[in-house]
Amino acid sequence: MLRRGLRIVVKLIGTNSGGYLGWVLKYCSICNRKLMVDSDAVYTCPKCGNTYYCLADYKRLHGKCPHCKSDLTLI
Ligand SMILES: [Zn+2]
Ligand SMILES: [Zn+2]
Repeated sequence: MLRRGLRIVVKLIGTNSGGYLGWVLKYCSICNRKLMVDSDAVYTCPKCGNTYYCLADYKRLHGKCPHCKSDLTLI
């Protein structure tokens, strides 16, 4: 599943030099709210990358990236 693959990628990015798998904190690109990848619904655009959206903004955007109109995916 695509969803599972994305989660693994995020985990690797969130690993520090000691190899500790910590939680990953992101900020919503629209409302700047703190998003904890492991406990909150965090959406991203697979094309744009490095942009994250909270559930409320995901719904407001109707699941589409505001930049390229691709479908946003759940991390
Ligand atoms: Zn938001
Ligand atoms: Zn996009």
